[in-house]
Amino acid sequence: MNLFTIFGDPVSHSRSPLMHNCVFKALNIDACYSRTRLSDGSQLRDVFFAKALSGANVTVPHKEAAYAQCDEVRGIAKTIQAVNTLVLENGRMIGYNTDADGFMSAIQSFGSIQTALILGAGGTARALSIALHQGHITPTILNRSSGRLEYFKNGGFDAYSWDDFTAARYDLIINTTSAGLSDDELPIPRALLSELLSDAKGAVDVIYGKETPFLREVKISALPYKDGSDMLLAQGVLANYLFIHGAFSHNEIEVPMKHSFSL
Ligand code: NDP
Repeated sequence: MNLFTIFGDPVSHSRSPLMHNCVFKALNIDACYSRTRLSDGSQLRDVFFAKALSGANVTVPHKEAAYAQCDEVRGIAKTIQAVNTLVLENGRMIGYNTDADGFMSAIQSFGSIQTALILGAGGTARALSIALHQGHITPTILNRSSGRLEYFKNGGFDAYSWDDFTAARYDLIINTTSAGLSDDELPIPRALLSELLSDAKGAVDVIYGKETPFLREVKISALPYKDGSDMLLAQGVLANYLFIHGAFSHNEIEVPMKHSFSL
């Protein structure tokens, strides 16, 4: 049996085990997917091999640590420098990033978007900034602290901390922070968020499965919005396709994975 897991901390909220196990069962694949809470990201590679895994997903806060520990990184993950999918290939740990394409597929329904403000500067913000840029949408980054902004500035993006940011008009406001994931915090101060929402065309929270304080504010503003479910589904389909080395099509994977959302 091939074993898979999701590494993260926290990880108890993750729907990935249900999503992937539904696919394995429906497509008769001899595999099982679990969760692994990992507090020290530097241990990820050792645990991957100790558990004899065939593949894994990586969530908050270990995507950058996973990138650093891969034997090889492929595709857009090389530019993003953060990995959310690991696949064992000939004894080597190969890293990919499926968050970027998953997000772009999820925001199609907003129609024409030219500018986006990304709240947060972690692995997900990196993935989204590259994906948006490649999709001809200009990203600006706003983070609580300045420590993680270098990557974005080096990539030619406007990136600010709360201390040096001045509000402007952005079509889409995207929360990629973990504020609201296991606490009741807003990703930015309420007054600033209200100002940004009053000029926007839509908003996305990449957190899924709960109404975050960010989404509550968005609902008050009556803007079109999405939580992270569509992105979760799209990145999961792409990750599963990599896990099973293309044995089934994206469509064949998507049907049972989508069904898992109603369980
Ligand atoms: P990281 O740990 O890499 O980054 C977290 C970011 O959130 C940092 O910029 C951090 O700021 C900021 N932050 C954390 N707490 C607060 C707070 N209370 N107020 C303001 N900013 C805060 O996380 P990831 O990028 O890996 O993941 C972020 C979120 O995206 C998670 O909730 C994850 O579950 C979700 N996600 C959802 C996906 C989906 O498919 N729907 C896919 C990928 C991620 P600082 O630098 O100042 O510490």
